Amino acid sequence: MILQHGDFGLGTFENVDGEMVVLDGNIYQIQGDGKVSEAPGDAEAPFAVVTRFVPQVDLEIAPIRSLSELEKLCDECRSSNNIFYAFRLDGLFDQVNTRTVSPPRDHGRLVDAAKEQAEFKFSQAKGTLVGLWSPGFSSAISISGYHFHFLSDDRLRGGHLLACAAGPLRLRMQAMAAVESALHKNPAKGRAYAPSATAPRTSMLQLRLVMRAIRLFPLRAS
Ligand SMILES: [Zn+2]
Repeated sequence: MILQHGDFGLGTFENVDGEMVVLDGNIYQIQGDGKVSEAPGDAEAPFAVVTRFVPQVDLEIAPIRSLSELEKLCDECRSSNNIFYAFRLDGLFDQVNTRTVSPPRDHGRLVDAAKEQAEFKFSQAKGTLVGLWSPGFSSAISISGYHFHFLSDDRLRGGHLLACAAGPLRLRMQAMAAVESALHKNPAKGRAYAPSATAPRTSMLQLRLVMRAIRLFPLRAS
């Protein structure tokens, strides 16, 4: 269950059947053909990063001509390279390039999924970027650096963000210091993995494959 871990985030679906956007407590699935649908609350996800979004920063940013310009503006809001940040950007996007993954035709391994993907270009699209910035040390369990998924206001377009240009955007940001992982049952072992301080350290690659969701906690204001 994704939504019990948070109401905002991103991820992928079981059998890598599309990109996930979790926004305002709804789960959206953007499939390989670009079709957007609302996923059931009990949708399974091999990987999802979600949080209860309570922004600590809420401001308007100047128009951006590229994704790298957007990332620079987001950088100016971050004060640390050692914690996680969730970003929400809303507004009119002049141009958005996305990609979506499809299930591998031969039910191949997850790592082969990136080969089955389609790219889309949208222009003059009102929508939202759901973003996550992850520290370098987390690269085995998340995508380090920025990771954005786009969803249009009409809920017809979206995907994993490759490029964008936009007018002024509303930027909201939340810093998160703690990470909790909720792990899938590992079918190979026939038992559930429970995160525990006393559990033997599993290799990070194995953690990634069995990971179901990461929950990020708001940083306490001091
Ligand atoms: Zn993505």
